[in-house]
Amino acid sequence: MSIFGTVRVKKGKYRIHGDFHHVTPNVPIRNEDEAWRLMGVTNPREMTYIHMYGGEALFFENLAKGSIYATKCKNPDCEFKGTVYLPFRIHCPDCLGKNEIIDLTDLCKERAKIYSFMACERSGAFNTLDKPIRFINVEFDGVSTILMSYLSIGEPRIGMRVTPIFRTVNPTYTITDLSWVPEGTSEEVLPQGFTS
Ligand SMILES: [Zn+2]
Repeated sequence: MSIFGTVRVKKGKYRIHGDFHHVTPNVPIRNEDEAWRLMGVTNPREMTYIHMYGGEALFFENLAKGSIYATKCKNPDCEFKGTVYLPFRIHCPDCLGKNEIIDLTDLCKERAKIYSFMACERSGAFNTLDKPIRFINVEFDGVSTILMSYLSIGEPRIGMRVTPIFRTVNPTYTITDLSWVPEGTSEEVLPQGFTS
């Protein structure tokens, strides 16, 4: 019997439990036009990848709590001191100093708008978002970067005001725990598991 691979960290070491890869039987590939001659085999491979967030872990932890954290360079010697980064950047790309973490939730709720967007009718493997996926680039007043995310309700327009919603029920601790809806969307129509 196998279980999903799980990892925890204790005393500075990974504690790994369960199976991280599964051997799944091959299946023959046969040619039905040529008396079912053998042509090959399928080669199923399933493995669990350990993806560590490092200094960005706090960002993902707080999405599940309905907060958006960003970072800011406060190095007085930096030419671009005061620059705010969302997506969360641990180090300032200009002075290479360590940024400070700031709570940007209120600004995201009040001053976010769509910079650009694209709708995707198809997606890649392992996609969990509903199609068509309305990818949006979100722009915030006073923030130097643009955040890639997705709109859960409505049709995107350039310049449209949007507000964040968070997967607070059964969070995945990935970036899809954060989504956006048009400003003024009521709580009752949000996707299941999301709160504003
Ligand atoms: Zn800097």
